Amino acid sequence: MTMRDDVDKSPSSNSVLLAPPADSQVAVLSSLLETLDEVALPHVSPRARADATHQNHLAQVRLGMASSLFVALRAKHPRTASHSLRVALTCSSWSSFLELTDEHRDELEVAGLLHDIGKIGVPDHVLLKPGKLSADEAMLMDRHREHVLEILACFASQRIMDTVYLAPAWYDGRSHEFDRKGQDLPLGSRILAVADAFDAMTTDHVYRRAMSRERAMAELFAYADTQFDPELVKNFSAFLVGNHDKLAVSISRRWLHDVADTQPNERWRLSAPLASQQCLDINSQFHEQLLDSMENGVVFVDARLKILKWNRAVELLAGVSAASAEQQHWDPAMLRLRDENHKLVSPEKCPVINAIKAGACLRKRLFIADAKGDSRSVDAYAAPVLGSDGSVCGATLLLQDTSSQVTLERRVQRLNEKVKQDALTGAANRAGLDRAHQEFTRVHLERGTPYSLIICDLDFFKKVNDTFGHPAGDEALIAFSSLLKRYCPNGGLVARYGGEEFVLLCPDCDNSQTTELAERVRRAWAETPHAVLDGKCITASLGVTELQLGDTSETMLRRADRALLQAKNDGRNTVVQLGAGMASEQQTRDRPSGWLSWFKGKPVDQVLERSLITTVPLKLAAEKLRGFVFDQGAEIVEISDENVTLEIDGRNSVMMQRSGDRATPFLIELRLEETRLDAGRTQGTNALRTLAHVTIRPKRQRDRRRRDVVERARQLLCSLKSYLMAQDHSVS
Ligand code: GH3
Ligand code: MG
Ligand code: MG
Repeated sequence: MTMRDDVDKSPSSNSVLLAPPADSQVAVLSSLLETLDEVALPHVSPRARADATHQNHLAQVRLGMASSLFVALRAKHPRTASHSLRVALTCSSWSSFLELTDEHRDELEVAGLLHDIGKIGVPDHVLLKPGKLSADEAMLMDRHREHVLEILACFASQRIMDTVYLAPAWYDGRSHEFDRKGQDLPLGSRILAVADAFDAMTTDHVYRRAMSRERAMAELFAYADTQFDPELVKNFSAFLVGNHDKLAVSISRRWLHDVADTQPNERWRLSAPLASQQCLDINSQFHEQLLDSMENGVVFVDARLKILKWNRAVELLAGVSAASAEQQHWDPAMLRLRDENHKLVSPEKCPVINAIKAGACLRKRLFIADAKGDSRSVDAYAAPVLGSDGSVCGATLLLQDTSSQVTLERRVQRLNEKVKQDALTGAANRAGLDRAHQEFTRVHLERGTPYSLIICDLDFFKKVNDTFGHPAGDEALIAFSSLLKRYCPNGGLVARYGGEEFVLLCPDCDNSQTTELAERVRRAWAETPHAVLDGKCITASLGVTELQLGDTSETMLRRADRALLQAKNDGRNTVVQLGAGMASEQQTRDRPSGWLSWFKGKPVDQVLERSLITTVPLKLAAEKLRGFVFDQGAEIVEISDENVTLEIDGRNSVMMQRSGDRATPFLIELRLEETRLDAGRTQGTNALRTLAHVTIRPKRQRDRRRRDVVERARQLLCSLKSYLMAQDHSVS
């Protein structure tokens, strides 16, 4: 895992969230790994890197208490700390190339790591100044050499102090502040001088871009004999070219892995007071407070799923304290995480575990149970934490509580649904129907795909109410709506059109499919007994039509309505289909009734003539007719023993009028007669029947050419039939 300088400085960066709480070991190791990359050390096994526990232990063992000093430097000036670490690593591996003793190598590691530690004592305004230093500032900066000695004097051996102190001395002795030159200078100093200069030249600075390794090497050769030991410069060149990779492996093993093979660096196991402890505390406190002040829950686990961080928000979300969770093995059951089906999330489906396995970010809406067992919805965002080589060394889980958002979303959704729902039957209401029907019409016209609808009207429903009461009627409406829902095709809609009329929208269904469906509905309904109606069955009439070219949602609905009226006209409990899809409108059932021809082309004659038959006896039929006259606001124009002529103004009509209808006066001539049908026709009942011969025509000649007049005439006929409880009578 890398912990870069810029990440450290930016508390808002996501990467900060991904970093575990800083402690000396982790921080040192992070820098170490970053440095390993920067000096292009070869690949360190991902597995080893992922083993954070092991690495922490190693760093602690190898770096000992000196690591705290290093962390202090890092907190003060990360760039200098990174440079120091690189120099230490270079010194270490070069020592090996030079076949120096382990003791010498240990000393060089410490000297390299701490050669700039004096910068801790340089004021920030000087140390961090991006521009050129003034003379005074330069003097303050130069004093860091004194600080180095002051700090090292607390714990380091004289050889380490000499190495660090004499490293800036020129080989040819021109720097007068030092009384030693050439081979009198300690080998460690001469090594450190080369490693230090090489790293400084190959790194970016505010005042100078980094040089290439070749260019830096050329500079070293240019100053061989004067500033640097010429033999060492040559040797360093060979070291860089030849065995660098092999040595890099050896150092990574030495520092990171094989603690059992090599003795820890005794020089670093020092017992000096930790001057940097305060810096360390501030650093880790910053991370702690940042994580704990977050509203989102944060869990950080290492690659072995050990929980390293469990912030305050997770404590609140899950009701599980950090004390009981941290250092435990991660399991989604700790948060009682559940999926959208409220099933406990198994380790196989756990986003954290999968983020580590897949090395990819995962987002999921999950549910989390709090201490009281109440479930909250959370957006779980699991992200792997990658090492500098791309290997996964842990994962963070970010939990965002979305319960309030979800509740609101759901409430709005429910309200929205309610606005479009019929309260009694739960079917869509008129508003819902209009919206869906308009949308289906638009989409299917655009696509040229079939779309049909069925309009249904319960037969003699008024009578149902009258006989069994309104609540029973309500039950029947609910039952009919349920039946329609059962038969509703995929993507379709059941809507209550009004009163006892329903509409079934059938997208992607053509006329014949929909007529078949309507027929099944009709049959199923007619065969459904109703407990609230004393076990009796009632029927429905259904009109079917399919969307045609040039249709609007209104014209399509009106055509279906006409089909329904025809079904009523045809005696109820029947299905009538009008229109043949995108072809021209046509009647698809071959019916003998001549007046259907009014729907198309030139009207034959604007007179509606029908024979009706009813089981109601003549006297009762006359009574029923009186109800019709009253309800329609009709006037008796002429009356004889058998014939009656009524005039209906239309203005007072209680019949449902479609908007835009004009009041049209009609004349209705009616002749009632009693008849006894033969046994064959009535299946042996041989009962008395009443025949009604009806003629309906617009009173005014000029109204006869109006199409809507035809519909009004049919409505009048239907209404009359329902009053008389009559059916069409075809005279054979
Ligand atoms: P037709 O076969 O010609 O359709 O005869 P009908 O009696 O069903 O038709 P009509 O339009 O004359 O009567 C419809 C009845 O539906 C009148 C009204 O009392 C009843 N109705 C409308 N809405 C409701 C409702 O919400 N509950 C109940 N129980 N009845 C309703
Ligand atoms: Mg009705
Ligand atoms: Mg009805």
